[in-house]
Amino acid sequence: MTQAKTIDCPHCGKPARIAADNAYRPFCSKRCKLVDLGDWLDESNRIPDPSGSAPGMGPDTDPDSGLPH
Ligand SMILES: [Zn+2]
Repeated sequence: MTQAKTIDCPHCGKPARIAADNAYRPFCSKRCKLVDLGDWLDESNRIPDPSGSAPGMGPDTDPDSGLPH
């Protein structure tokens, strides 16, 4: 059997060939791949930077450091 395997394109839902000659797999086409990648980058840009919103979690707050010597 040499039937090409296909999956649903993650972007548009159309059948996309999962074969070595499909450079855009798992997408069906270059456009879908680029658009999806663009969505990804967009989303990662929208995620707020977690640094600066972690109160009291510094390495200086060691509870043992308050013990008398
Ligand atoms: Zn597609």
